[in-house]
Amino acid sequence: MTQLTDLAQGQHYPAGALYIVATPIGNVADITLRALHVLGLADRIAAEDTRNTAQLLARYGISKPSIAVHEHNERSAAERVIEHLRNGERIACVSDAGTPGISDPGAKLVDAVRDAGFPVVPLPGASALTTALSAAGAWVQAFTFVGFLATKSKQRAAQLQAYAEQPAALVFYEAPHRIVETVQALADTLGGERQLLIARELTKLHESLHRCTLAEGPTWLAGDANRQRGEFVLVVEGAPQQQDADDAHDALLAMLLEELSVSSAARLAATLTGASRNALYARALLLNKSEEE
Ligand code: SAM
Repeated sequence: MTQLTDLAQGQHYPAGALYIVATPIGNVADITLRALHVLGLADRIAAEDTRNTAQLLARYGISKPSIAVHEHNERSAAERVIEHLRNGERIACVSDAGTPGISDPGAKLVDAVRDAGFPVVPLPGASALTTALSAAGAWVQAFTFVGFLATKSKQRAAQLQAYAEQPAALVFYEAPHRIVETVQALADTLGGERQLLIARELTKLHESLHRCTLAEGPTWLAGDANRQRGEFVLVVEGAPQQQDADDAHDALLAMLLEELSVSSAARLAATLTGASRNALYARALLLNKSEEE
């Protein structure tokens, strides 16, 4: 019978190249046939944590020499990787989970290897980012991947301010001990009305995906201690487009104008929405006029 990994063999895998290999983010079966083929073919594995990776590879019956490439030694380790590439080795780069270079070591190694003139070959596979986005739904179109926010509240607020007006959805990674604080900070800075997807423990036994508004997020998380455990991806709706805001303001003003004068309707709408009173007054005048015609 054909081995499944034979399916990955049709392509040429040059020697003296760095292969970027995604590994599972929880479920050990989430590894591609090509990844297994290349890990089997590699002379050496550049791993974020060599012991972790050895344990993972043992599950697939693979054992290889390794080099530690982590956030504290990435540049110096790159020199060693390049020496091995000069000797014609195939090196596979893996992180602890998911895709290297995505909130993980790998990017500096890629730069150094490419600058030294060796090919970098990416193999697609698991990432918490794409896994969460695949189940987000149609309210997410364009997105910006932010990853981990700063832990200090002042820096975090400044970082978020820079994204506050973006129409693209925002994607964050977060650890369990900061999840409530971070969702609260998102609600405080971006406004409570935006949609939020809390994707927890993806591909694992206690996987959960919960959609609510940013304002509802902290209460939902506090509702059960288990909801704050594990690994998180947060997907937050982008800033409302001006047209959407205008349509919502018109609907509100039309309702208020049934009972109130133009100026009272504009004043109340400004209080309810936080939008400019002058702008709302101008819209209310237009609505009132078209009603009278
Ligand atoms: N390189 C990885 C990737 O491709 O997704 C990300 C590594 S980063 C150091 C770890 C963070 O990714 C976690 O703190 C969490 O925010 C997110 N993450 C990783 N695995 C996850 C999972 N199974 N479910 C939800 N989030 C996960």
